[in-house]
Amino acid sequence: MKNEINGGCLCGAIRYHAKSNPKWISYCHCKMCQKAYGQASGIFLGFTKDVLVITKGTPKKYKSSSWAERSFCDNCGSPVGVSYTDLDSVLIGTLDNPDYWPPNGCHLGIESKIQWDLIKDTLPQWRTEDDPDFIEAIKASKVEKQ
Ligand SMILES: [Zn+2]
Ligand SMILES: [Zn+2]
Repeated sequence: MKNEINGGCLCGAIRYHAKSNPKWISYCHCKMCQKAYGQASGIFLGFTKDVLVITKGTPKKYKSSSWAERSFCDNCGSPVGVSYTDLDSVLIGTLDNPDYWPPNGCHLGIESKIQWDLIKDTLPQWRTEDDPDFIEAIKASKVEKQ
């Protein structure tokens, strides 16, 4: 199936498959995504837990904050995605067929957007603290610490 969600890293050591469609496909312009991906923003497919299955290899994980873990391939260095307590995501460029999955969610982290990085679509623009998944993740990470 052309719109089946499969993907992986540059060297092929990490492969994944999603069992159903993403909850959203959104940009994140936050400073951490800029640093993590060396780009102006990251474009993610966000999935509810257990939808995303790693079919090959084991991504290395970097805990970039108390609520988020960023996974990557420790062989080729490709970033693969970010996980929250209730959410897994992958970066659009790691998909085998990104043509079938245009962004439909929002622009997150708008407070950190690089000024020349012009937005040419009409998707909503949210500050990080306005993102419902982020709010949930923060709550969950606070609960875990108690
Ligand atoms: Zn790799
Ligand atoms: Zn971000």
